[in-house]
Amino acid sequence: MNVIEAGTKCCERVPGAKIGWRHEYKQCSRLAVIEREGKFYCKQHDPESRKEKRANRYALWQASWKAEENRRDFVIACEQAIRDIAFGHNDPVGLARGILAKEFGE
Ligand SMILES: [Zn+2]
Repeated sequence: MNVIEAGTKCCERVPGAKIGWRHEYKQCSRLAVIEREGKFYCKQHDPESRKEKRANRYALWQASWKAEENRRDFVIACEQAIRDIAFGHNDPVGLARGILAKEFGE
C-alpha cells in the first residue's frame, strides 16, 4: 500500500446536482483515507467497509427474521394447545409448561 498524498480525494462517483430528471455525477469530495487496488477511497466509500456494513445489515436482518419465525411458531403452538385443552387434553399444565420451556427455557 502506498502512502496517500495529502489532498488526495476519494475516487467514488456520487450524485451531484439534479439536471432535469437525472443527477449529474461528480467525484466524492472527501479526502481519501485508504487505498484499494490502486484506487483511493474515503472511509464511507471504502469497498471493504461497505462489504462489512452489508454483511452486518444482512446478519441483523437474518436475526430479526429468525426471531419473527420463532414468535410465529410459539403463537401456533399456543393456539394448538388451547384447542387441545378445549377438547379435553389430559395434562393442560404439562402442555403449557412444555410450550413455555421450548420458548423461554422455563
Ligand atoms: Zn468517498
